Amino acid sequence: MYTTEFDYHRAGSVQEALALLAANPDAKLLAGGHSLIPAMKLRLASPPALIDVSKVAGLRGIRLEGVEVVIGAMTTHRDVEFSDVLRAACPLLSQVAPLIGDPMVRNRGTVGGALAHADPAADYPASMLALGASMTIASTSGERTVPADEFFTGMFETAVAPGELLTEIRVPAATLGEGQAYEKFAHPASRYAIAGVAAVVRTQGGSVSSARVAMTGAGYHAMRLTKVEEALVGQTPTPEVVEAAVRGAVSPDELLGDHFASAEYRAHLVEVQARKAILRALGSAG
Ligand SMILES: Cc1cc2nc3c(=O)[nH]c(=O)nc-3n(C[C@H](O)[C@H](O)[C@H](O)COP(=O)(O)OP(=O)(O)OC[C@H]3O[C@@H](n4cnc5c(N)ncnc54)[C@H](O)[C@@H]3O)c2cc1C
Repeated sequence: MYTTEFDYHRAGSVQEALALLAANPDAKLLAGGHSLIPAMKLRLASPPALIDVSKVAGLRGIRLEGVEVVIGAMTTHRDVEFSDVLRAACPLLSQVAPLIGDPMVRNRGTVGGALAHADPAADYPASMLALGASMTIASTSGERTVPADEFFTGMFETAVAPGELLTEIRVPAATLGEGQAYEKFAHPASRYAIAGVAAVVRTQGGSVSSARVAMTGAGYHAMRLTKVEEALVGQTPTPEVVEAAVRGAVSPDELLGDHFASAEYRAHLVEVQARKAILRALGSAG
């Protein structure tokens, strides 16, 4: 199906994008277009105008700034996959990016677009929760920072309000004793997560000093598995401890069930992916 007719604006700067958003309140931002354009073709979305921010200078790139890695919202999945900065300072995202879709999706799709779209089966949201990332959101009234824990508010819903633009994502660089891993059970056609789990764990003196574990794909939006985290902290990280921590990680009552996988099956998959991700994160904790 074709999209309905729309006006097209290309922004050359963040200021221009924000001014265009203010002047066209019903317009949609266009990043890589790999979620928005399919939705428009299916007529699930029919915005009267698109504001293309994919070429805005300053919105693309990955840099280390003190103890944080700063990722511009228009950075593509491919940029993430091949970033030396991320490989050294945030290996979790280097693991996640190559698992997204196919090469065409990774060449065009962006981190900011994926986070703002907040598809319940998208990969980055669980990672951003596990990493304790924060999002910088701009509007004509200024800038604000939203922690990942407050960013994903529902199915396809985030803290980004109308008239706002997600400009960058800030991720704490990995510290000594920290291990990071992502595991997903992917849909065989799209590669979207049916259940994905990201784990960031720190060990000190032979026990787990901190753990952030988050899931995607199985529920209405990505969320932390706080019971699993609490069961790990303070423990000697043996396989038995991990096994006990992930058992019943999430109740099927909190999960989606559809023709791909029932809620009960998704709960089982979360347990399996959580076990794998935590054990691998512990194994890489240096
Ligand atoms: C075949 C296929 C397979 C895929 N497989 C996977 C997969 O395995 N895992 C996965 O995670 N994803 C997958 N995706 C989705 C892909 O990662 C998309 O790139 C991503 O969801 C959207 O990013 P985008 O840059 O294309 O955004 P767009 O499609 O351009 O935009 C998406 C939405 O976000 C809004 N938006 C975009 N940028 C901003 C911004 N800076 N600030 C505020 N709002 C903004 C837009 O207005 C729109 O509503 C797949 C997509 C396809 C087509």
